[in-house]
Amino acid sequence: MALIEVKHLRKEYPNVTPLRDVSATIEAGEVISVIGPSGTGKSTFLRCLNRLETPTSGQVLVDGQDMCDPATDLAAMRRRMGMVFQNYALFNHRLVVENVMMAPMDLLGLSRQEAYDRAVGLLAQVGLRDKALSLPSELSGGQRQRVAIGRAMVRDPKVFLMDEPLSNLDAKLRNQMRAEIILLRQKLDTTFIYVTHDQTEAMTLGDRIVIMKDGYVNQIGTPQ
Ligand code: ADP
Repeated sequence: MALIEVKHLRKEYPNVTPLRDVSATIEAGEVISVIGPSGTGKSTFLRCLNRLETPTSGQVLVDGQDMCDPATDLAAMRRRMGMVFQNYALFNHRLVVENVMMAPMDLLGLSRQEAYDRAVGLLAQVGLRDKALSLPSELSGGQRQRVAIGRAMVRDPKVFLMDEPLSNLDAKLRNQMRAEIILLRQKLDTTFIYVTHDQTEAMTLGDRIVIMKDGYVNQIGTPQ
């Protein structure tokens, strides 16, 4: 069974319909790049996958569970889907380690000490052990994005949803982070859905590339 099946997904906002009829099948372990010009509904697509947005019609099945079925335990499903945004979405008044601890305490019910230990371990994995007690504002953009990735890893997700995670970084840092994401992918052996408007990024990261256009999937295939 496919990990994610999207069937005839449509999303209308009052003045615009970014997704008209989108279907795709994503297997466990794949890295899928979603590419297209700005405004083509890439973010909307990603946000429909974990139901941050409610589709107007169509179906999103994750592990066979319908994300729009009221009987589906959305919180449980979201725990298995780590999301990383372009603006990091860190809490700036909380220490780096606290940013990573919040999810395990709130979502997984770990004690403060357990969450702290787990968070420090994850920060070590993303090369930021020595920044645990810093504030996000004391970090570089690349370091902040690594905290955000560490925070998404906390739930041991089956799938990472990444929305232009490197677009706020300068070219050098972007190259470096791209390499790190490839390593992370090898290490975690998990599924990535990676939204970008950067062709190089889509080509180097994706096993398959979804090209979005005018609310439809224009093409889906390997980089070749
Ligand atoms: P992309 O990620 O490809 O840049 P988005 O999915 O962010 O595209 O947006 C697609 C279109 O939907 C844009 O025209 C955007 O303005 C619109 N849009 C996105 N989110 C909302 C929303 N919450 N309400 C109304 N319109 C939205």
